[in-house]
Amino acid sequence: MYTPITNEIPVYTISNAAKLLHISVHTLRMYEREGLIIPFKKESNQRLYSEKDLERIRCIRKAITEDKMGIDGIRKMLSLIPCWGIINCPIKERIECKAYIGYSKPCWMLKHKNNVCENKNCRECEVYSSFGNCQSIKEKLKELIH
Ligand code: SF4
Repeated sequence: MYTPITNEIPVYTISNAAKLLHISVHTLRMYEREGLIIPFKKESNQRLYSEKDLERIRCIRKAITEDKMGIDGIRKMLSLIPCWGIINCPIKERIECKAYIGYSKPCWMLKHKNNVCENKNCRECEVYSSFGNCQSIKEKLKELIH
């Protein structure tokens, strides 16, 4: 069973997270809608955020405010993640997977039917979590390319 490490424990409500990040709740909701973040959802549907989520959002904020990237650009960048190489999905599934053949949305935004991702929890997946902040993106790419 998946056991989150300390900084992965979702403890902040959306309003607390927004306060800590100096952004609005509306902006956080928009990042989720646009597929940039996947907050933890309680059964009641309430969103909670961990320190790791905040780190990810700080990276997104930096890309927007300092590097002048738009939401579309960030989503496009995330859609280039070679998820198939990370989770090693079978070749016969890859060739029919939208994440493998296209690059419009990150894999966690796509519907996955009859493949290895069908019932996976993307928030807990190595693909989503490894590409969580600027440093981890670089480290993961180094590991993949070596
Ligand atoms: S489980 Fe989700 S995040 Fe992981 S590779 Fe599949 S679609 Fe992507």
